[in-house]
Amino acid sequence: MPLADAPSVPRFARPVFTPVAVPRLPLSHAIAALLMTPVVQSIQFRFGYYKRTAKDWTAMAEALMQRRVRVRVDAAAVTDIGDQTAAFYEPWGRDGVPRDTIVFPNHDTLSTPVGRATAIHECSHAIRDMRGGPDARLHDESAAYICGIWYQFATEGQAAIPGDAAEARVLQEVVSALFQREPGREGVVRAQASEVNAMRAAVRRLGRKAGYTNTLIPYDGVPRSAG
Ligand SMILES: [Zn+2]
Repeated sequence: MPLADAPSVPRFARPVFTPVAVPRLPLSHAIAALLMTPVVQSIQFRFGYYKRTAKDWTAMAEALMQRRVRVRVDAAAVTDIGDQTAAFYEPWGRDGVPRDTIVFPNHDTLSTPVGRATAIHECSHAIRDMRGGPDARLHDESAAYICGIWYQFATEGQAAIPGDAAEARVLQEVVSALFQREPGREGVVRAQASEVNAMRAAVRRLGRKAGYTNTLIPYDGVPRSAG
């Protein structure tokens, strides 16, 4: 398309927000509020067969407010998962953690950009669980990383990424490219096949180091009404 006919919105026109944490709200409500901010609502992409749109973030905020997806603070449970774990999503329920629950090590998660990115990452897993059915861990994990890192780019202009330099660089490059890409129809940015492959390879290495061995996550869904 010739430049003269290009849409009037410049390439880097996404607004940059630095949301303020709201510590007086219960954590679940504060996360729901975070998901409804323009910056999270603007995290919209296609990654292979995955799609994340504003509708997903809104549905997740509703699930949190209705306690269909729960939030817990349990430092010991997070430590049990692994040294590198910042938080986790429990789809099935085990060891005293109820099903459909996001577990954080403390109440201050939303007070830092990385903590908010972690919350958004875990919400991406819960969004996937809402659909039910098994899914490839690499794909689901890649999409979750994109969500959290995208949020950091949008709010901070940079991202703190876990893992060694090589993996961090790949994640940074792929998500940076997605963040800056002109959205297509419905405001959704599309990852190229090469980006999907690079992202999955980096996430595979991260997962190996974290000790993950399962390649499928047998998501079992989230009840449609609170139970
Ligand atoms: Zn994850």
